[in-house]
Amino acid sequence: LEPAYLFMVRVRMPGGVCTPAQWLAMDALARSHANGTLRITTRQTFQFHGVLKRHLKPLIAGINQALLNTLAACGDVNRNVICHNNPYLTPVHGEVYRLARAISDHLLPRTRAYRELWLDEKPSADTVPDEEPLYGPTYLPRKFKIGLAVPPVNDVDVFAQDLGFIAVAEGARLVGFNVAVGGGMGMSHGDPATYPRLAEVIGFCPPEKAVQVAEEVVKVQRDYGDRTNRKHARLKYTIDDRGVAWFRHTLEQRLGWRLGEPRPFRFERTGDGYGWVQGRDGRWHLTLFIMSGRVKDTQEVRLMTALREVAKFHDGDFRLTANQNVIIANVKPANKARIDELLQAHGVSLQEDMSALRLNALSCVALPTCGLAMAESERWLPDLVERLERLLERLGLKEEPILLRVTGCPNGCARPYLAEIGLVGKSLGRYNLYLGADFAGERLNQLYRENVAQEEVVDVLAPLLEHYARERRKAEHFGDFVIRAGYVKPVRNGKAFHDA
Ligand code: SF4
Repeated sequence: LEPAYLFMVRVRMPGGVCTPAQWLAMDALARSHANGTLRITTRQTFQFHGVLKRHLKPLIAGINQALLNTLAACGDVNRNVICHNNPYLTPVHGEVYRLARAISDHLLPRTRAYRELWLDEKPSADTVPDEEPLYGPTYLPRKFKIGLAVPPVNDVDVFAQDLGFIAVAEGARLVGFNVAVGGGMGMSHGDPATYPRLAEVIGFCPPEKAVQVAEEVVKVQRDYGDRTNRKHARLKYTIDDRGVAWFRHTLEQRLGWRLGEPRPFRFERTGDGYGWVQGRDGRWHLTLFIMSGRVKDTQEVRLMTALREVAKFHDGDFRLTANQNVIIANVKPANKARIDELLQAHGVSLQEDMSALRLNALSCVALPTCGLAMAESERWLPDLVERLERLLERLGLKEEPILLRVTGCPNGCARPYLAEIGLVGKSLGRYNLYLGADFAGERLNQLYRENVAQEEVVDVLAPLLEHYARERRKAEHFGDFVIRAGYVKPVRNGKAFHDA
């Protein structure tokens, strides 16, 4: 006998794209080998939770049979590459998605061990050991994250990435990317040497050089990242320790050419736009809000069944967003009404009746399945949102979009330090409350109250929201208001995050 070990399995899915057949396969695997739900993550992929040890191998084999895999979805490697969520909107969006895939493929580990371990592939007869031309024998000091954004929408939170590419277009033509380095959310409570940090734009590269830039940025971190302290092993600390000028110089030496000067860009918002939109080719795309990214059936809302039924006849694809939502994409006009009817019949409401706060809420998984969780997150979010909605309704703020993000620990999987209201678990039932990030993902928030009891969070926020309702300026977001009103100071950079 041994303990009933429980695992989480994460799929690698660059840009969050899967076919209807793959959706059906993931749905079936979730019901046969996991806890009967699918989780859409903030890195645009599926997680399976509650996987018993004996289900691990068949689950991973099943994912591979569906022509997806789990290689490099975890570990000290480049993780799932995320990008803006709808490549059909313009040719630029399509081109950026193709590059996201190319970067992902290029940075994959070459190891054969994955196939031997999980897919029972016979070890190679040749005696030459696996070679990792990029990662070498010791891989990276820590995980590495890449995201690509197409302004004016910062739906991937590009400044939260180790490496961000910000598309620059001239008309319908992609002319290159502003390159941003050194973002990352994770920190540890009580350790000011750890902090969230936003990536800095260091230059510009043409599209055909993006893969090379990605490789060389990863290699600089491979060679200079801190391998003595995992809490200090992300690229953000390498850059803060050595300076951004050093980083750019070292990168350019390895590239063999100089980055261009950054081009102007402007982000208007983070998060997703909801509902139906039509692409230039006449096909339709429906972005559905999914609370905490959890695809499951409840008595009232049979979301998992509904999406399964859609997948049975849909001939486009599914796109997971970096905000835990799903896009039923590339829908031919003849199928649009059928999808609407099917969702309605299963109790899946479109976003019309939801508050703007709900539509902008994220949470990580936390308890009971994340071993690092210090407090509730996903299981608390519905109650928190409902209580806040009642308050916002009374204050006339129901239509005001406010970024709310909750995590069960400071690792920051739901990017809470970029939330206008960020709640980070401290211990069971207790949270640190952070305020003052902007709405476009370009400013970190700051600690407002430490160790707030779960049941007091709404009471602590109420006077601020009342003040906001009374005195906000036209189009002023809550995160900007709390700074103007003096509740928190703007955070200049990651190092200043703890300077309350
Ligand atoms: Fe787990 Fe912490 Fe990530 Fe939440 S933020 S999923 S608690 S590691």
